[in-house]
Amino acid sequence: MQTRHLLSWIELSKSALDHNIKSLARLAGKRAIAVSLKANAYGHGLAPMISLLRDRREIEYVTVHSLEEAACCRELGWDRRIMVLGPIALSELEAVFDWDLEPVVFTREALDKLGRLAAKRKTSVRTHLKLETGTNRQGVLEKDLAPIASIYKKHKYLKKPYGAGMHFANIEDTTNHEYAQHQLDRYNRMVARMKALGIGPTIRHTACSAALLLFDKTRFELVRPGIALYGHWPSKETYLSYRLAGGHNDILKPVLSWRTRITQVKDVPADAFIGYGCTYRTTSRTRLAILPIGYSDGYDRSLSNLSYVLIKGKRAPVRSRVCMNLTMVDVTDISGVKLEEPVTLIGTDKKEMITAEQLAGWAGTINYEILARLSPNTVRVLTDK
Ligand SMILES: *Cc1c(COP(=O)(O)O)cnc(C)c1O
Repeated sequence: MQTRHLLSWIELSKSALDHNIKSLARLAGKRAIAVSLKANAYGHGLAPMISLLRDRREIEYVTVHSLEEAACCRELGWDRRIMVLGPIALSELEAVFDWDLEPVVFTREALDKLGRLAAKRKTSVRTHLKLETGTNRQGVLEKDLAPIASIYKKHKYLKKPYGAGMHFANIEDTTNHEYAQHQLDRYNRMVARMKALGIGPTIRHTACSAALLLFDKTRFELVRPGIALYGHWPSKETYLSYRLAGGHNDILKPVLSWRTRITQVKDVPADAFIGYGCTYRTTSRTRLAILPIGYSDGYDRSLSNLSYVLIKGKRAPVRSRVCMNLTMVDVTDISGVKLEEPVTLIGTDKKEMITAEQLAGWAGTINYEILARLSPNTVRVLTDK
C-alpha cells in the first residue's frame, strides 16, 4: 500500500514477523504454539495479523482475551484453533459452540453451564482449566479441584478438561526466579491432583514469552507467547537473563514502526510560549514542526517535553504538551525540513532508532502498554522489509 497520502500510519514488517515466528518455532520444538492476539494484537492490528498468520502452519492456535475478539478472528477467516483466556459472561457461553472456541474456565458456574449447553447440543467442548498457583488473578484453587472434578464427570460431553494452564506472576520483571519456581512446583502438584481425581489434562501450558525464552521446563505440550511474536522482549531483565544463559542477541526483531508527516513548519521568535499550559518557552528563534498525532492516537501525554521523534535521521525533541491530536517538535537544527516530510515516532530512520521500550521508559510504563494503546483507527500497512 502507498503511504504518500497518509498523515499517520503503522508499518508491519513481514520479514521481522517471519524471523520471530522462526525463533519461536525453534524454542517451541515439537510443541504447539498459541500466539496472543489480545489488545488488537498488541496494537499491531487484528486484521493484518490474522492475514499474516493464516499461512503460517507452525501457528496452530491464537489466544484472545474476549469473546468479541474471538468472533472477530473467525470473521476475519481464522479457521484454526482459538483459546479464549479471559472471562465470558454466563449468558454468552452459547457462543463458544457457535464460534468453535476453547474457553479457559476458572469458575464452577461457567463449567456447569458449558456442560449443560454441550449436552443440549450433543457436542463436546475443549475446556482449559486455569489453575491458581500464586498469581491470584483468574484461576481455580487447589482445594476446589475436587468439586470441579465432579462437575466435569457429571457432564457426559465434558468428562475432563482438554488443557490445564497457569500464568506466572513474577517471571519477567526480575532476574530472581524463585517465585516462578514456586508456582511451577504448585502447578505440577495440582496437575498430579487432577490426574488422581480422574480429570488429568491432555495438554499442559504455562509459558508466556519470558517463560518460553528462559525456562525449558515451563514449555510442556503447548506454549503461549505474546510480545515475543511482535519482536519485543518482555523486559530488560528477561533479556539479561537470556543473554547471561548464552542466548543470541538477535532472535527477536520489532515488527512495528509508527510514522506520521509534518503538517506545518513555522518559525517562532525567542521567548514564545508553545502549546497548552505554556510549559515550554523558546530561548531563541525556533523552527517548529507540527505533527498530526497526539495522545488519542497512543502517543502518551506523559511524553510531553520528554521524548523526541526522528526527521531526516535526526532527533527532533517534543516541545510542550502532547495534545489530543497534535504534537509540536523542534526542528531548528535540522536543515531542509519540508511540509509532509515523514516523521518516525517508533522505528528507525537512517542511523537513529526510537523503540517502544524507550517511549515506555519516558512515559513510566512498559512496552506492552505503549503497543497495546496504539489507536486501532491508525492505518496498518504491510511492508516486505
Ligand atoms: C497475555 C498472556 C500471555 C502472553 O504473554 P506475553 O508476556 O506477551 O508473552 C500468555 N498467557 C496469558 C494467560 C496471557 O494473558
